[in-house]
Amino acid sequence: MAFLELTVLNNEPTPIVGIDLGTTNSLVARYRDGRPEILKPPGHSGTVPSAVYFAEGEEPRVGTEARLHAIADPGNAIFSFKRFMGRGLKEVASDLSSVPFPAEENQHGVVAFNVRGTRYTPQELSARVLRQVAAVAGEAIGSHAPLTAVITVPAYFDDAQRAATRDAARLAGIEVARIINEPTAASLAYGLDLKAANEGKEGGHTIAVYDFGGGTFDVSILLIEDGVFRVLATNGDTHLGGDDLDRVLVDLALSELTEKENLLTAEDAADPTVRQALRLASEKCKMELTNNPVGELHFTFPDLEINWRRDVTREEFETLIKDVLMRTLACCRSALADADLVASDIDEVVLVGGTTRIPSVRKLVESFFGQKPHVELNPDEVVALGAAIQAHILAGGTRDILLMDVTPLSLGMETMGGATSKVILRNSPIPCQHTEGFTTYADNQSGIEFNIVQGERELAKDCRSLGQFKLTGIPPMPAGMPKVAVRFSLDANGMLTVTAKEETTGNLAEIVVEPMNSLTDEELEGMLMESFENAKSDFEASRFAGLITELGTMLQASERGLRTGSDKLDAETIDELEEAMQAARDARVLKDVGRLKEVEAIRDAFELATLPLAAVLMDSVAKSALSGKSLNDI
Ligand code: ADP
Ligand code: MG
Repeated sequence: MAFLELTVLNNEPTPIVGIDLGTTNSLVARYRDGRPEILKPPGHSGTVPSAVYFAEGEEPRVGTEARLHAIADPGNAIFSFKRFMGRGLKEVASDLSSVPFPAEENQHGVVAFNVRGTRYTPQELSARVLRQVAAVAGEAIGSHAPLTAVITVPAYFDDAQRAATRDAARLAGIEVARIINEPTAASLAYGLDLKAANEGKEGGHTIAVYDFGGGTFDVSILLIEDGVFRVLATNGDTHLGGDDLDRVLVDLALSELTEKENLLTAEDAADPTVRQALRLASEKCKMELTNNPVGELHFTFPDLEINWRRDVTREEFETLIKDVLMRTLACCRSALADADLVASDIDEVVLVGGTTRIPSVRKLVESFFGQKPHVELNPDEVVALGAAIQAHILAGGTRDILLMDVTPLSLGMETMGGATSKVILRNSPIPCQHTEGFTTYADNQSGIEFNIVQGERELAKDCRSLGQFKLTGIPPMPAGMPKVAVRFSLDANGMLTVTAKEETTGNLAEIVVEPMNSLTDEELEGMLMESFENAKSDFEASRFAGLITELGTMLQASERGLRTGSDKLDAETIDELEEAMQAARDARVLKDVGRLKEVEAIRDAFELATLPLAAVLMDSVAKSALSGKSLNDI
């Protein structure tokens, strides 16, 4: 009945919207009349600054108002909390030193901010921003029905950070249709998926997404192949953004106000309220410089009777920010190297983030990649627009490209001896699921403990543990007899469910991984780098093991051959062969992969020494046909 009522009440069902939940700003878009649009109520920019202000004894203020209050009362205005989503206190120690509000760990081991005696997690704060975003959407659409949304996250967000984002949406009463990567959304907004499909380039279409926001810089290298988006590499700096450019102007103002003009004492200059006012004045000047050759740096502080202004030319500004901008290129270089590409391999370059409005940033990116980047859409709106396109596709809208994201790290579990068994491989398109068979290693073992790990390394201790669970109630059986099916199921939002089922009893155990602690960006990067570095040693280890097995086979063949053919060989040849065989036996017990080359030489010498024996074992016809072949080849 409720269903019928709903149908009657809503002639036009609430659409699925796309939400860019940003570090600095959040906004919402929907798809209508064949294109996505930012939802802006009349007289409103649509942008909700991702900030919350806690006034004494009042309801918290969210968005623009919170940002303004941050000037007068910095300790009670919280912003940049996206950096702390799904993280533990230890992991974000360096981030915390850069924010003016006190943080602690709550009972679940996640970061919480203590404001006026109450603790707020990043999820709760994000939920408040999302509620404001939903209100903006409702205002623009003219309906305040609960929203369903596609929400974007940075490509490097791990499972915990994505899970925290979902929690935030749930707290805000928003149903998450899907979580997608910000660079993927930006590419969708430019229709690069359709362009790639039309051009059908061999090996796919590569895209570099350069995202320079308020407090973070990210570069992602994507590949679109057969309609699937893959993240080839991500790089960036979580402490590099528009804020740094503001700071350059704050420093300029401070040095003149304190040293040159003596308007500010060192003590006043350190006051957080003064700092915030300077920061806002600097940001305003920075934005003016984007559109004008000269910007005005105007700092008023009535309490100190300061009303100071100074012109900044674009040339002067560009010189001041050069070092900051160059740091983004270092990240681009690393990302390209990780993707095994060079700048000229990139088919499309997309600019994202408010800071890419700055002309010198655009010039720099253009000269680095040797092509004009996409700037047709507003860079601070492009992610929300793309999310709206994805929402439209999910709602059954026409667009014939299948969109998928991929998992950035392999998922698997620890097996005997501390090795890992990868169940879902890195870069698998999601959603996906895979089942592996496992068994016991001791007689009458009644339970199996599972350790779910994430990462590329061969040993579980080198990977990241996502959680443990235990399957119990296995009936007494000899080791190796019980059959346990372990299913890994990764949903479209990157949430992992692992189910273990013992076949005879049907006993089940399950874990949904929503880890409290998660990786820092550096760690995620480090894990991938490590796996690349280890690829060589892993390769050598398996090569070494292969050689040892090969020596065993050669020894068996030689021993067999000598029993029948030794009377046809002279004593010296037999001595040489036996010497080589002894060297092979000695080498077989070596366990040191570092001696790979030495073992290779022993194998080669052994092979040579077997040639005369191989020769006498062949008949005269085969002899000429097979000369030069070793004993093993016969
Ligand atoms: P985020 O993705 O971090 O939420 P945005 O993409 O909204 O952030 O970018 C915010 C940053 O963009 C801020 O540092 C802001 O000062 C900067 N910004 C916005 N507009 C301009 C402009 N016209 N010129 C220069 N910087 C700008
Ligand atoms: Mg952004």
